[in-house]
Amino acid sequence: MIEIQNLCKTYQTGSVKVNALKDVNLTVEDGHFIAVMGPSGSGKSTFMNILGLLDHPTDGSYLLDEVDTRSLDEYRLAAVRNRKIGFVFQNFNLLPRLSAQRNVELPLFYAGVAANERRALAAAALERVGLLSHIDHRPNELSGGQRQRVAIARAIINHPSILLADEPTGNLDSASSYEIMTLFQELHRQGSTIILVTHEPEIAQHAGRIVHFRDGSLVKNEKVESPLDARQLLEQWLQQGGRE
Ligand code: ATP
Ligand code: MG
Repeated sequence: MIEIQNLCKTYQTGSVKVNALKDVNLTVEDGHFIAVMGPSGSGKSTFMNILGLLDHPTDGSYLLDEVDTRSLDEYRLAAVRNRKIGFVFQNFNLLPRLSAQRNVELPLFYAGVAANERRALAAAALERVGLLSHIDHRPNELSGGQRQRVAIARAIINHPSILLADEPTGNLDSASSYEIMTLFQELHRQGSTIILVTHEPEIAQHAGRIVHFRDGSLVKNEKVESPLDARQLLEQWLQQGGRE
């Protein structure tokens, strides 16, 4: 479970101070699917980076499975991050010279897993996102949606309980967006906690709850009564004539 209390983040660049997060409170139960919305600059990525233990808050507390993350040193933070959290970045963050398989293997490489096992686990993760046939392709030999799926395979290779995704469908065509959302909904059904940033109201409707940020504050937290089914939307879209 994620428990955020009175979270604040101030960036200071020279003499300029920006209050990127102001007194944010949020609890996310295990297995919930949350969409995060808000205008550009409202603090969404700052919030995600703190949730992903990639950055520290200036004030307030973040409890992850009842452990106060302030009590963890950098080494233990990295261990918790590797074990519990998968992160999908908006710009994919794939290494251009590595094949899909090598990109997906990276977290295991850093964790010291043997090459044979890495290869098998990477193939399994790529199969899960429907890209086993593209295992040897480099990022520039893949479409945007396929790159994003490789990034998701990399994020889920350690079977993290929490998946954080910052604008995973930004710049993707409708079919690719539905494919990505189908994947997130499958992972959610299998028990993952998912927190996903999006600018698109329709994408947010795939989650169980939507939180809205404005000027660094969490201003609204609403339940989605009947979330959209991405697989169904994808099938309808393909029946109506396919890709854009
Ligand atoms: P977008 O939708 O454009 O991605 P966002 O909601 O993700 O926006 P953030 O990236 O969290 O917004 O930025 C929130 C505020 O913090 C902005 O005013 C931004 O300029 C500032 N900010 C973000 N990162 C830094 C940083 N590393 N140093 C200084 N200021 C930063
Ligand atoms: Mg952002």
